This record gives sequence, C-alpha cells and structure tokens, in this order.
Amino acid sequence: MKRIAVFGSTGSIGTQALSIIKSNPRRLKLVLLTCRSRIDMLRRQIEALRPEAVAVEREDDAIELRREYPGLRIYCGRDGLNEAAQTVEYDVMLNAIVGIAGLEPTLAAIAAGGTGKTSNLVIALANKETLVTGGRFVMSAAADAGVAIVPVDSEHSAIFQCLMGNDGNAIKRIMLTASGGPFRGYSLEQLKSVTVGDALIHPNWKMGRKITVDSATMVNKGLEIIEAKWLYGVEASRIEVVVHPQSIVHSLVEYEDGAVMAQLGFPDMLVPISYAFSHPERWATDARNINLITLRSLQFDEPAGETRRSLDMAYRVMRESEESGRDSGAIALNGANEVLVQLFLDGKITFLDIINTLERVLDRHNSRMVKGIGDILEADRQARESALSFVGR
Ligand code: NAD
Ligand code: MG
Repeated sequence: MKRIAVFGSTGSIGTQALSIIKSNPRRLKLVLLTCRSRIDMLRRQIEALRPEAVAVEREDDAIELRREYPGLRIYCGRDGLNEAAQTVEYDVMLNAIVGIAGLEPTLAAIAAGGTGKTSNLVIALANKETLVTGGRFVMSAAADAGVAIVPVDSEHSAIFQCLMGNDGNAIKRIMLTASGGPFRGYSLEQLKSVTVGDALIHPNWKMGRKITVDSATMVNKGLEIIEAKWLYGVEASRIEVVVHPQSIVHSLVEYEDGAVMAQLGFPDMLVPISYAFSHPERWATDARNINLITLRSLQFDEPAGETRRSLDMAYRVMRESEESGRDSGAIALNGANEVLVQLFLDGKITFLDIINTLERVLDRHNSRMVKGIGDILEADRQARESALSFVGR
C-alpha cells in the first residue's frame, strides 16, 4: 500500500490523480490533500477519500474545516503547506500545484525524505515550474536525499519510459513532441487578434488555464525543454522539439546506435499519472486505446512562426546556464510568464504581448548564479516586477 499526498488536488491533474487513487483502493491510500481555493470541491474529496490531513491557503477556510471535520489535521497558508509536506507521512508526493508556488513544497518533501522518516520517497512531479526555476538545486538535493523524481508531464513520462531497460546508455538526442496548440500555423496577423477564449481551447488536452495558455504561446514547450534538461542531465542542444498535431507520440529518445524509442498512446493524462504511481508496474486505466488503422497517419513538423520564439528563449537561457552556471534566466522567463499569462487571462494584455514582453524581460535580465531558495525567489520577484513595468502595470 502506497501512501499518497496530492498537492493541488482540486486542479486538472489533482482531480485525475484522485480518480486513479479511487480506482486502486488496495494499492493506494490517500493521506493528504492540498489546494488553494475551491473548498467545496475539497469537502467532496475529503468525504470520498478520508485523508488524514489537508492544507488550504486561507485561515478562514481552515477554521471552518476544523469545525466541520474534527478528526482531520488542517494546515494553512504557505508555511502550513510546507509543514504538511514535512510532517505528514507519505510514500509518494504528487506535486500538481501550478507555478513556482510548487517549488517550496517539493523542497520540503525532499528534506523530509532525507531524514529517513520515509524510505524510498517518490516525488511524482507535474509541477514543471519546480525544475524550471530550481532544476540544478532540486535534482542535486533529491539525489543527496535518495528521493526519486518521477515526471508526470506526458512528454517527460514518455522519455522516462523510453529510458527503461537502457541504464548506462548515453542519450544521443531527445525529441520532445508538441501539439502546436490552437494557433499552429497562424500568421503574425492572425495572432494579433486571438482572444482569451481562443487560447483556452486546446485541440488535444483539457488542462488548467495557465498551462493551456502556455501551450498556445509554446512557452510550455520551452519550459519542458528546461524540465527535460534537468531531469535527464542532457545539454539543451540535444533536445529537439517536433510539432506533432495528433499528440499520439508523446516523445522519443535516440541512442548512440541509431535506435529511437518512442512512447505512444491516446492523449490522456491518466496514463502518465498512473505510471508515476505504479512504476515499474503498470496498472489498468480508463484511457482510450489507439487504433493505428483509423489514425492512418501521424504528422511531424518543424516548429515555425511567432511561437517558435518561445522555444528560442528557453534555449537561450539554458545555453547561458550551461556555459556559465548562471541559472537565473530560466527563473526570469518563468516568473515573467506567470504574471503575463494572468494579465492575458484578465483581459489586460494581448496574446502577443506575452511573447514580446518575455523577450524584453530576458534582454534586460542580468543573469546570475543562484545558490538556494532565497536567490530563486528573489530572481522570480524581480522578473515579475520587470514584466509588469514593460506592460505599464
Ligand atoms: P490547475 O490550475 O488545474 O490546478 C492547480 C492546483 O494547484 C489547484 O488545486 C490549486 O488550488 C493549486 N494551487 C494553485 N496555486 C497555488 C498556490 N499558490 N499555492 C498552493 N496551491 C496552489 O493546474 P493543472 O493544469 O492541474 O497543472 C498543475 C501542474 O501540472 C502545472 O505545473 C502544469 O504545468 C502541470 N501539468 C499539467 C498538465 C495537465 O494536463 N493539466 C499536463 C502536464 C503538466
Ligand atoms: Mg507536457
């Protein structure tokens, strides 16, 4: 029986994870739920899965929940979230928080894993921003503590699966697939007039709003280049992005002998989430089967157009990190993106403002080495400020 802690339980990944936990009552036991808002949904989750503890953001939500569920341990605020990560005992942390807010809970879990309270702690990481902002630091802390980081992001899970049975073999190249999002093939002129509603309709995946916008700008794929670099220890120059509109091939790994391994399947996050819980076993899921005959053909294209610039920014910050050890560029890219996506969702800036402003933030950014969480949070704060100043907020 694996004890599971779900961070970000009310989100797109969190709710799908809970459905997997419900489907596997003899294998998985939920012990902790965390969320920021949607307290009614949290109540339903508490009643269905009876965790030992929950963590919420607001004090008044915590007070109410304490009254309603006297037996439940309730943490609140940012400190409470980190304390829950450190004190509740679990075997697998699913980190499905969105944004850099997921970084500190990851670090708290690694610290707890390092104390030996739980041996073989696994962090099932959906929160890619953890690695984008703290990659070098997080991977080495996890290795020192003996904590495994298993990706949930579908591309990185595909790579993880392609690496199975290839221990010790160098990776020649990683090919990350990208659907291209709703604006694939759009001209600059067309992109000028896209709306929030247009950006929130993803052709293949139903996800949270932030990552859906990131998929439309292709910033998501840029963040995934950085995520892959840290997870698998490969230089960014060995990571290629291939546009694959059907989202059937989830990513590929090429080896020295020319062999290429790929992982395929219907685009459904149940598969990578389930695999993060089950590996090296595989458990049944409700994901649809693919039928190659009805699919007929799979298409692959070079990334092109305006959104290609989002990939270039990721390569640019990774090149700098590799050449000089200065990692703050990725933190700036991520932090600025978080505020710009929110402004776009609020109708305050246009779609292209996101990409244009990110470039300006990076042009102005003074990259530096980051030594720990304090430096990361400071670089994040400065990048947010810088983005806001460029869009006149
Ligand atoms: P979401 O917005 O649907 O859910 C986010 C969850 O995190 C919610 O439970 C919310 O309450 C919580 N949360 C938000 N801000 C928080 C904060 N400041 N502090 C604490 N908790 C907070 O997001 P999602 O689409 O499920 O994505 C979660 C993560 O998984 C992201 O990093 C995303 O990039 C990654 N991811 C998602 C998908 C997908 O299919 N949704 C696929 C791959 C990777
Ligand atoms: Mg992905």
